[in-house]
Amino acid sequence: MTSQHGLSKSTFLRGVQCAKSLYLHTFQRDLATPLDADQHARVTMGQQVGELARGLFPEGVLVSTPRGFSKAEALQQTQSAMESGGTTLFEPAFLADGLFLRADVLVRSGSAWELYEVKSSTSVKDEYLLDVAFQVYVMRRAGLSINDAWLVHIDSTYVRSGPLDLEALFAMDSVTDSVESLQPTIPGLIEDLQSALAQGVVPEIPIGRQCNDPYPCDFISHCWEHVPSPSIFEVFRLPWSKKEELYKKGVISIEDIPDDFPLPAPSRFHVVAHKSGQSIVERAPLRRFVGGLAYPLAFLDFETAMSAIPAYDQSRPYQQIPFQFSLHTIAEIGAEPQHDGFLADPVGDPRQALMEHLMRRLPEEGDILVYHQPFEEGRLKELARDFPDQAGWLEAVVARLKDLIEPFKQRWVYEPGMNGSSSIKAVLPALVPELSYETLEVGDGGQAMLAWSRLVEGTEAAEAERLRQALWDYCTLDTLGMVKILEKLEVLASG
Ligand code: SF4
Repeated sequence: MTSQHGLSKSTFLRGVQCAKSLYLHTFQRDLATPLDADQHARVTMGQQVGELARGLFPEGVLVSTPRGFSKAEALQQTQSAMESGGTTLFEPAFLADGLFLRADVLVRSGSAWELYEVKSSTSVKDEYLLDVAFQVYVMRRAGLSINDAWLVHIDSTYVRSGPLDLEALFAMDSVTDSVESLQPTIPGLIEDLQSALAQGVVPEIPIGRQCNDPYPCDFISHCWEHVPSPSIFEVFRLPWSKKEELYKKGVISIEDIPDDFPLPAPSRFHVVAHKSGQSIVERAPLRRFVGGLAYPLAFLDFETAMSAIPAYDQSRPYQQIPFQFSLHTIAEIGAEPQHDGFLADPVGDPRQALMEHLMRRLPEEGDILVYHQPFEEGRLKELARDFPDQAGWLEAVVARLKDLIEPFKQRWVYEPGMNGSSSIKAVLPALVPELSYETLEVGDGGQAMLAWSRLVEGTEAAEAERLRQALWDYCTLDTLGMVKILEKLEVLASG
């Protein structure tokens, strides 16, 4: 085995996903794109879940605090803790044959040990098995006997009621059999990666599915530099196998896709429309859609936040909790749109106040337009489930919803600038270029969630005011954008 290059658990997993990524990470790390705020938030959430899961093991001893992390210190403290009879260790460190790792939880079981790996997801994923298999391999090489391996993950069926119930929040699945069956593959994988690192040249690996699977690679901006936008990789509903087939033939631009290349119908629509550069308007169904809207007309949009660890009673892991809505209303055809909205106080559960404001401000009749109905409908139904005393009017609101995405999804209206997508982020700039999310501090749902998290955590008054204004501007633009899109559809329908 080539052993001059050490591997940690994270570099091993990186290398298995793509050896080029491992090589660049080791020798040309400056080419990587730093984590964005959204990715940082995911990392932080994972750490919070890991720390919370330690509560399942009351006897546990933390080997060394993350802030004081040092390989040598962690190894030495692990050894001391084991020699002094520690039965449950958090973050123990092991090094064998240049392979290093820190495990989440290790529990003594007679003369052997059980390994517990904590994940913030709600199920066991294939990539976790290789993660645990690497750990078991290294710990055995370090002289430990590991007789069981477990994955501790979030149980999505947990409903909070009072203080967090860790036994109910977390589920534990034995992965011993899967991990044992992977053991014979680990030495070969390690050898391949160490060999790739020893070559002295960047491995020649073309871009592909592995760039985002199972994790988004931080070298995408480097490796994908030659790919224009739009490209074959953005063709609507084009399967990866087709993208790879085209890429291998040297086709990257949509214009270069041969006319006789077999494509699924939605992809063909996108490619043909892109190549022709022409707008599409199907007036008859569009007229029926626009003419069938019942006034007073409301335009509704929710902003939501979610967490692996449910913060409020009657909420579940990863439940989308609405904390804000924007509402535009048009009393009758031709009337000026009026804006209203609500942004909750970040202290406590925002849902009760949100429902009260929504009930007061929604018109009592008429259609309620949303964009991508499953999202708003899902939140309203969850509110009805979690607050049964409010279920009656919430269900009545659901019955009045209509989806403004329909004309675009059905391809009654298409502009080449939509690039095959019917999402509001694609439709709005194509139809109403004077409205843009680009200049906003909060420009998408992920950023809205982060801004809300900062308000919940607490921040100084001026910063809080700035964040609230940014959230207000963003959510307002979502419903104002819908108003403007409908105005455009009315013009197209009557043209
Ligand atoms: S972007 Fe893709 S090809 Fe490049 S290093 Fe990452 S996974 Fe490998």
